[in-house]
Amino acid sequence: MNILDKGDDYYMGLALREAELAEEEGDVPVGAVIVGEGRLLARSHNQRELLQDPTAHAEILALTQAAAALGTWRLLGCDLYVTKEPCPMCAGALVLARIRRVVYGAADPKGGACRSLFTIPSDPRLNHQVLVEEGVREEECRTQIQAFFRRKRAGGQTIEEEFGSLM
Ligand SMILES: [Zn+2]
Repeated sequence: MNILDKGDDYYMGLALREAELAEEEGDVPVGAVIVGEGRLLARSHNQRELLQDPTAHAEILALTQAAAALGTWRLLGCDLYVTKEPCPMCAGALVLARIRRVVYGAADPKGGACRSLFTIPSDPRLNHQVLVEEGVREEECRTQIQAFFRRKRAGGQTIEEEFGSLM
């Protein structure tokens, strides 16, 4: 069976599982996968805490993996699935990578750069436009992040107020 036949819900499920790994590593649960050329090219999760790298977002790590898998930085025809709306850095990277389509679950009104704060992937002034699809398995994606912050608070931990409006 061609993996591309499995549909958006299936790939978002893989991204949700990746996000669980981020949480196990003490990071905000965000997961991403990339599909292209009929196969899964990358699966990654937020690793800022693990790597102590501010750019180690799930999407960036997935783009690097997919480029390595294809042997080219031009990810033409590839789709990226991510549980939360990409930030400005990641949205910019999607354009640079020539991604065909970005699919995300939960919108991020405080930091999202696909439709919420900015519309980077579809900005006609840039030399490539990425198709945007939001709301795939939205409830599960939002609940996962909300639950993470709730547990952190319950544990008495002070947390950064990013994704605050998701809570
Ligand atoms: Zn990001």
